[in-house]
Amino acid sequence: MSYRAPVADIAFTLKHSAGLKRAMDEGLYGDLTEDVVDAVLEEAGKFASTVIAPLNTVGDKLGTPFKDGAVTMPPGWKEAYTAWAQGGWNGLAASEHWGGQGLPHALNAACIEMWNSASMAFGIGPVLTMGAIEALDKHGAEPLKQKYLEKLTTGEWMGTMQLTEPQAGSDVGALRARAERAPDGTYRITGSKIFITYGEHDLTDNIIHFVLARLPDAPPGTKGISLFLVPKFFVNDDGSLGGRNDARCHSIEHKLGIHGSPTCTMVYGDNGGAVGWLVGEENRGLNCMFTMMNNARLAVGLQGVAIAERATQQAYAYASERRQGRAGANASAPIIAHPDVRRMLLTMRALTHAARAICYATGAAIDMATRAKDDAARKAGDQRASLLTPVAKAFSTDIGTEVASLGVQVHGGMGFIEETGAAQHYRDARIAQIYEGTNGIQAIDLVTRKIPMMGGAVVRGYLDELRKTVAAVRATNDPAFGAAGQRLSDAVESLDRATTWLIAKLDASPDAALAGATPYLRLFASAAGGCMLAEDALADVRGGNGSGRVALARFFAENIAVQAGGLETTVTEGADSISDAALRGAA
Ligand SMILES: Cc1cc2nc3c(=O)[nH]c(=O)nc-3n(C[C@H](O)[C@H](O)[C@H](O)COP(=O)(O)OP(=O)(O)OC[C@H]3O[C@@H](n4cnc5c(N)ncnc54)[C@H](O)[C@@H]3O)c2cc1C
Repeated sequence: MSYRAPVADIAFTLKHSAGLKRAMDEGLYGDLTEDVVDAVLEEAGKFASTVIAPLNTVGDKLGTPFKDGAVTMPPGWKEAYTAWAQGGWNGLAASEHWGGQGLPHALNAACIEMWNSASMAFGIGPVLTMGAIEALDKHGAEPLKQKYLEKLTTGEWMGTMQLTEPQAGSDVGALRARAERAPDGTYRITGSKIFITYGEHDLTDNIIHFVLARLPDAPPGTKGISLFLVPKFFVNDDGSLGGRNDARCHSIEHKLGIHGSPTCTMVYGDNGGAVGWLVGEENRGLNCMFTMMNNARLAVGLQGVAIAERATQQAYAYASERRQGRAGANASAPIIAHPDVRRMLLTMRALTHAARAICYATGAAIDMATRAKDDAARKAGDQRASLLTPVAKAFSTDIGTEVASLGVQVHGGMGFIEETGAAQHYRDARIAQIYEGTNGIQAIDLVTRKIPMMGGAVVRGYLDELRKTVAAVRATNDPAFGAAGQRLSDAVESLDRATTWLIAKLDASPDAALAGATPYLRLFASAAGGCMLAEDALADVRGGNGSGRVALARFFAENIAVQAGGLETTVTEGADSISDAALRGAA
């Protein structure tokens, strides 16, 4: 089954629980109107459903053959990419100065979801280019911007992001690629990188690599890393392409999923060193890369939402057609009539909607951080984005795999058979939990850097907002919400207690805090996601509708947020069993 972009749901979440409408009313987006937002989403949905989605299976089946140093993308991909770039989608949130459209990050987030629902392997390439644009715009010297930013913004060239080496994965500080200063102010890059997404392909006639490397006199670890722009082909002053740089793709990986995305081993310096241009300052490369990484982390979170949405659509369609067993008087009922199948489908839908709301809210916070008029509001936006980014990345990609797995389950045996398509979603989903910082690393980031921000004041401010939603649900006295008010209140208070416990442990017993990081992130998302679904439900009720959204919010609160208590216990009481097992040789 193909993909139909759920434009109405996307628009609703964006405007309500993610806060776009309020921000528009407050003037954050200048003269942007709801009509423009709706028109952009409509067009994106059409493009994703009709142009990109049909490429998904062909990309999976044919992959990206590699021969004589070149990658051939699957049939139809170049034409689709060119049309997509010409449609202005690559620069949707990029600066108008470089040919972008200057539209909200939150709106771009919604579009990124649609590109990736249509095809994750297609969607991941532009994500890296968007990150590259942001890093170069923020940190690059003017001549570099003049030469590269416009073509990256329009998508005429694509960008890559190159950190990983065999000995340097999560531990980026261990990287060894070298950069030597050249007399003309450029640098010579030598070394190799692994797992580089879209490191080589034939979608565009140039590829601009953003490579982390170490100067000979650099301090060890993360404080000695610099960022370099290394074009595949040199660019002449008039913008035309010159000769080939000393950078090449050595091979591509054969992967579990996203077969249409070439994952390359890159080699620099066969002939004395690739010419690189410094971005930002020497030894400050990781700071620049973080600009790209935060952007990319949200986008990868959106991949989780995207694949969950697609798997959910497919599962609903199958469950409405497939007949097995009796339900009431019906001798041969569609399986959607069975409570256990309904449970699976509702879990899929509720998790997808909650992850979507968290991701879009993160995009809205990024907008606040960059667009708000006063410093205090910009700072608050930045802190909110920092707090939510690891949750958006890890929760959404965890549920991406869970939902895709449920999708296989709903199909029964047919889910395990490739031609159904459910299996591809499951295979594709799995990588998003690993790249852009594994989900374990995201949880550690949340616990060790984000919740201690401002002595815990940032997370406590967020908890207070969640409490307001809980109070609003209770104030409705609407029986359709069932026990949602109480369940969400329990979840928020569990999150509060776990937060207090973790902040105290960070100094006293850091290993105990680290042991609880992953269940804490899930607890955070259960409380936040539940409250956001409730926010959407409340907005729908205010608009005179609401039965579907209220039912979904209730389902989440009573079946998913209710797990918060167990997660709290795991966070606060689980660490001893981990250290004890290690002592006794059981782990
Ligand atoms: C398909 C694909 C595409 C990719 N694209 C890119 C790309 O474009 N650019 C790029 O630079 N990289 C890319 N990567 C690399 C990716 O970002 C890394 O694989 C990822 O960061 C994890 O590093 P690793 O594989 O070395 O795993 P490791 O770091 O060895 O981690 C293994 C396990 O140990 C855990 N772990 C590691 N350190 C810690 C710690 N300190 N505390 C707790 N747990 C820890 C991890 O969470 C993980 O579960 C890609 C990878 C793949 C598979």
